[in-house]
Amino acid sequence: MPDAAVTIIGGGVVGLAIAAELAGTVSPLILLERNNQCGMETSSRNSEVIHAGLYYPEGSLKARLCVEGNRLLYELCEAHGIPHRRITKIISASQPGELEALDRLYARGIANGAPLRKLTAEEVLELEPRVATSGGILSPSTGIISAHGLMDYYARTAARDGAVIQTRCAVTGLERSSNGYRITVDERGERSSISTSWVVNAAGLEADAVAAMEGIDIDAAGYRLHWSKGSYFALPGSYRGTVSRLVYPAPTLHTLGVHAVIDLVGRLRFGPDIEFLETRTQDYTVDPGRRSAFAESVQRILPFVNEEDLTPDMAGIRPKLQGPGDPFRDFVICEESGRGLQGVINLVGIESPGLTASPAIARYVRSLMNL
Ligand SMILES: Cc1cc2nc3c(=O)[nH]c(=O)nc-3n(C[C@H](O)[C@H](O)[C@H](O)COP(=O)(O)OP(=O)(O)OC[C@H]3O[C@@H](n4cnc5c(N)ncnc54)[C@H](O)[C@@H]3O)c2cc1C
Repeated sequence: MPDAAVTIIGGGVVGLAIAAELAGTVSPLILLERNNQCGMETSSRNSEVIHAGLYYPEGSLKARLCVEGNRLLYELCEAHGIPHRRITKIISASQPGELEALDRLYARGIANGAPLRKLTAEEVLELEPRVATSGGILSPSTGIISAHGLMDYYARTAARDGAVIQTRCAVTGLERSSNGYRITVDERGERSSISTSWVVNAAGLEADAVAAMEGIDIDAAGYRLHWSKGSYFALPGSYRGTVSRLVYPAPTLHTLGVHAVIDLVGRLRFGPDIEFLETRTQDYTVDPGRRSAFAESVQRILPFVNEEDLTPDMAGIRPKLQGPGDPFRDFVICEESGRGLQGVINLVGIESPGLTASPAIARYVRSLMNL
C-alpha cells in the first residue's frame, strides 16, 4: 500500500482548493508545502479580486474556470462567512481611441458568459464622477475577497475530511515506483520519501521545476515559466471613498492594466504593473523608482491622483507561460498519461485568474481523476 492515495505538491490557494475538494473522497491525502505556512507566495500577493471572466478567449480554461469559479466563490463565501464584497467594477476607456478595444472586450465577455453592461461616458460619471472616461463597461459580478479567508476555509475543510497538510516539507525529487510514484521530501533538513498513487503538482512558481523532476522536458512540453513581477502603490486614507468600485483601464496584451483596487477595509491601491524577471528570486520589494510611470498610468483613469501621494506597497510574482511579446497561453491542467506518467496531474501557468478559478480548478482536477 502506498503511503498516500493522492499527494498534492504546493499549499497555495489552488493546492488547498484541490485538497478540500478531494479529501472527502480519497484517503490518505497528503499536501506538501515547503514554507512554514501555506499561502505565503502568490496566493497572498495579488489583487484579491473575484474576476468575472471577460479577458480570456472563448472556450479557454481561463474563461471557463473563471466564470464557473466566480459563481462558486460567491456561493462559498455566503455559505461559510468568508470575507468578501460584490463591489463591482468599471472598465473605462480614458480616450475615444480605446472604445474599440472595449467593444472587443465586451463581446468576448458576453461570449464567455460574464454579465456585463455597456456604459456611455455620462453613465460612467453617474456611477464614478471622478473617473476619466469616454465610455465604459460595468461588470456587476466582479468582487473582492480575503485570499487568506478563502485559504483558511479550504485548509479547514480538507483537514476536517482527513487530509494531512505538512508544512516545511519541500519536494526535491520524484520517481516512478511499482505502485505509483516515490516523492523525495526535505523536511526541516531531514530527507525522507513518500509513496503515492496520484501526484498533483500545484507548485505555483515552481510548477515547471516539479514537472522537470517528473522527467518532462519542460521546453518541449511548453511548460517553462517566466516569472513576471507585479508591484503595487498605495494612496493615503484621505483618498478613501474617491471611487466606490474597482476601476480598470482598457487591457494590454500581458496585463489587465494598472487598476484601482479597493481592499476589504476600503484602502485604495494601484497595480500590478509588469516586469519580467531575468533571475528567479522572490524579491518582493517595490522599487520607488517606478512611481512616476505608475502615476502616469493611474492618472489616465483617475486624473485627480497626485504622484507624491503614491507610496510603494507590495508585490507579487506571476508564473507566466507567456514570455514577453508571446501570444495568449492558457492554464495547463493536464493528466499526463500521454507522456507515460499515469496518475500525474500538472497545473502549470496558474496566473490570474487562479484565485477566482480555484474552486472550479479543483472540480476540474477531480474530473481528470474520474472521481
Ligand atoms: C500581482 C498578481 C495579482 C493577481 N491578482 C489576482 C486577482 O485579483 N484575482 C485572481 O483571481 N487571481 C489573481 N492573481 C493570480 C493568483 O494569485 C494565482 O493564480 C494563484 O494565487 C495561484 O495559486 P497557486 O496555489 O497555484 O500558487 P502559489 O500561491 O504560488 O502556491 C504554490 C505553493 O507551492 C509551494 N511549492 C513550490 N515548490 C514546492 C516544492 N518543491 N515542494 C513543496 N511546496 C512547493 C510554494 O511554496 C507555494 O506555497 C494574481 C497574481 C499576481 C502575481
